[in-house]
Amino acid sequence: MDTKRPTNLITIVRSERNSLSFAMLFVSILFLGLHALGGNAYHLDNSCTDTQKDFLRQGFLNAFNMIQYANLAWATPNPAQQQLKQWLFGPDDVVTRIRAGQTLGGLDRIAGYGELDTAAGIQRDDIRVYCNTDRLKFKAGVKPKFYDPDSQELLSITDTGGIMCSGSLAYAWVPTNPAMPSIIQICPWFLEYGMEKDPQFQSRIEPGIVARLALKLDEYITGKWYTPIDLFGLFDKVLVHEMTHTRAGMETHDVNGFGGYGWKACRKLSTVREPVTSGIMGPERNADTFALFVSACNLQSRGAMVQENGTFTLPPATKAKARRAMAPNPSALRARRPF
Ligand SMILES: [Zn+2]
Repeated sequence: MDTKRPTNLITIVRSERNSLSFAMLFVSILFLGLHALGGNAYHLDNSCTDTQKDFLRQGFLNAFNMIQYANLAWATPNPAQQQLKQWLFGPDDVVTRIRAGQTLGGLDRIAGYGELDTAAGIQRDDIRVYCNTDRLKFKAGVKPKFYDPDSQELLSITDTGGIMCSGSLAYAWVPTNPAMPSIIQICPWFLEYGMEKDPQFQSRIEPGIVARLALKLDEYITGKWYTPIDLFGLFDKVLVHEMTHTRAGMETHDVNGFGGYGWKACRKLSTVREPVTSGIMGPERNADTFALFVSACNLQSRGAMVQENGTFTLPPATKAKARRAMAPNPSALRARRPF
């Protein structure tokens, strides 16, 4: 949490609005003004338990630090960072550089977000984070089928699997109503999975539905699609990926759908150059390209050597620690197979 920001104070003022004095009104207007002047924030919805909020705060902090480092690398790259840029964004050209720079700039802005304790007064460039999908209402006879009372609109996701997170780790969307904040939905099983991997939270999670879906993730991970770099710091990387989809992150896409995910897919996409007017998108609009760039810069900052094939080597002292940070631990997951 960024304690420099006044957002928590706003909360306090608002929670006592029944006894507003003129002095409090003044303070309230002052802080609301500061918020409007660029003090954007993320808000962890009350669908998240206190323990989940603690975990997510840590995840946001990690993501923010990684983003700031990646932006430095983008602006003034050393030779290894320059190589990484080329692997993910292809040969340098003005359009790609400008567009990618816009999303990286947006991420840098998000990295300055404070935390807003209440959804009251949440703004369009803010981000609201949910830990479950309980608020979504099934609507019979209409398409799309799910209504979100918070954003006050039907979601574009039409399939039950998508909405129930059985095929996703997390997703994000920007409501069509321009007054509504962007939304990041963390899928409950993936949240549990991330917390289970984190030593700080291992003993604090309540066993839920993680095993069945984690096994699915295990299959993806050990399958042909993914490389070691896709797995490193997976939870924090997914947060960065979703942040790029938000309004402040310049609403990136998953270019080619599922084919836009992962190092191998991003490497393929890196050289796509189409006229801006064609509507065909290249690496500069692909969410996972940014998530991987941010993550790989972070790996390099730890002294890792990132290779063109998505593998990396760490300095000896950090190897054991990094191995623990890598998902998944298949033997631990298989031990929970009864689900
Ligand atoms: Zn995405």
